[in-house]
Amino acid sequence: DQRPLQDYLRDTAQAYGGKKALYFMGKELSYKEVYDQSLAVASYLQQLGVEKGDRVSIMLPNCPQSVVAYYGVLLAGGIVVQTNPLYMERELEYQMKDSGAKVIICLDILYPKAANVKPETDLEHIIVTGIKDYLPFPKNKIYPFIQKRQYQVLVKPEQSTDTHLWTHLLKESTREVKPVDVDPLEDLALLQYTGGTTGFPKGVMLTHYNLIVNTQMAKKWLYKCRDGEERVLAILPFFHVYGMTSVMNLSVMMGNKMILMPKFDAEAVLKVIEKQRPTLFPGAPTIYIALLNHPNLKKYDLSSIEACISGSAPLPVEVQEQFEKITGGRLVEGYGLTETSPTTHSNLIWGHRISGSIGIPWPDTDSKIFRMDADEEADYGEIGEIVVKGPQVMKGYWNRPEETAQVLSEDGWFRTGDMGYMNEDGYFYIVDRKKDMIIAGGYNIYPREVEEVLYEHSEVQEAVVVGVPDPYRGETVKAFIVRKQDSDITEDELNEFCRKHMAAFKVPRLYEFRDELPKTAVGKILRRQLVEEEKAKYE
Ligand code: ATP
Repeated sequence: DQRPLQDYLRDTAQAYGGKKALYFMGKELSYKEVYDQSLAVASYLQQLGVEKGDRVSIMLPNCPQSVVAYYGVLLAGGIVVQTNPLYMERELEYQMKDSGAKVIICLDILYPKAANVKPETDLEHIIVTGIKDYLPFPKNKIYPFIQKRQYQVLVKPEQSTDTHLWTHLLKESTREVKPVDVDPLEDLALLQYTGGTTGFPKGVMLTHYNLIVNTQMAKKWLYKCRDGEERVLAILPFFHVYGMTSVMNLSVMMGNKMILMPKFDAEAVLKVIEKQRPTLFPGAPTIYIALLNHPNLKKYDLSSIEACISGSAPLPVEVQEQFEKITGGRLVEGYGLTETSPTTHSNLIWGHRISGSIGIPWPDTDSKIFRMDADEEADYGEIGEIVVKGPQVMKGYWNRPEETAQVLSEDGWFRTGDMGYMNEDGYFYIVDRKKDMIIAGGYNIYPREVEEVLYEHSEVQEAVVVGVPDPYRGETVKAFIVRKQDSDITEDELNEFCRKHMAAFKVPRLYEFRDELPKTAVGKILRRQLVEEEKAKYE
């Protein structure tokens, strides 16, 4: 397909004009309205001087503006830079400098941060929007986490030559957009920064084509779904590539209705499912786990859910089984990375699947296992690095040719940095990330193996295992545990359980109980933060 991504919104608005594109806390917008407002953003950005290839940052949680702004930037010919709204000033400044963004579109409560970093970066304009641009303070009780103070912005920006209000933009913009000549195969649609679980975030260059094909692949995988008929729960954030592709772009391509949630709150999600009846629910293990563990789970009707795909971290088998039981739908595991738009493998939703496996490569995607640090293929069942080749693989890292060359070969094979193996039927299994492997007393220990055992304990809600410095063994295994509600399980009991279920050298030597674990935007446990906390203790 040789069209730019924004053409899909135009086509859907033509085909399904009056159909609802999104639901947000009681407010609904049709595809026609989303397209009209995207044109308003595009023409306004062009007036501000945005030209083809200029970077525009979007720093928003899931809300109508996050969809409108994304397509607006593309219509103007710009490159979207997704910025995590939870970023602190230091992180924001790093990303603005690295990407060279010219304009930022941000939530009103984030305006002070944007204004503070502006003088240090190439930012010329700030466009400010608030939830109240679409909604009065929501009176219903579904969203207890939206507090009044979020409606009483501390620093109220005023319309000026470099600060622009969204309401002014929608009112004043001519909606006349100068056509931009986009080559979907070559031109970037997106600079997506990696989550930073293992290191400093890098800007991943994704072209229009990368994003379009990955969305089309997702659609193929959902072959039973009907264009224009599905309702998709949008709890995965659009500022992360997983939610962007599997929820936003997929919905726009199919004419589905998105049910937007700006922030994760387990009970709010349960309520919204009962009321809005989504059919598709892309998510991550921590999201499904939190719902299953909610004390009021049984009070809600979740029977509308037909298909769920879980990615970003390993999906425990019990979670898959329990979630299917409670919803009556299918939940399968998939796998991918920011560098691959993101999905490369998954199980079939309505076909053959293997619990505990990430499934098979998606259409047009090749994948193999390379022997560690070599370019030769491993045997069936042999652990090595997962490599992939396909039209969803990034163009490279922004301004980092050396780092690009380390992971992307000239003939298009991308080294994922994940260790795994393939069985004789071509199903792939993840063992762990190369960088997370613990070496204790000369033994290689994969944290995931230890975590899986811990998850089997009925009183463990969440578990993460990291290597900590040890004077004798080099590293030793430490487990961080979140207990289930009402559990008072002790270190000794867990230790006894682990000893029964794994070789002695893998058993954690240290345990720490916490009320919660640090997580990334898609709910992935931030292992790096825990490793750094531990390292700091030994310095
Ligand atoms: P960074 O790359 O900066 O360290 P990150 O890990 O958050 O950050 P992402 O691109 O969001 O970057 O995540 C990709 C990684 O997520 C994969 O390399 C893999 O380790 C992990 N992952 C994704 N899906 C699965 C899965 N089904 N099972 C296990 N791990 C998964």
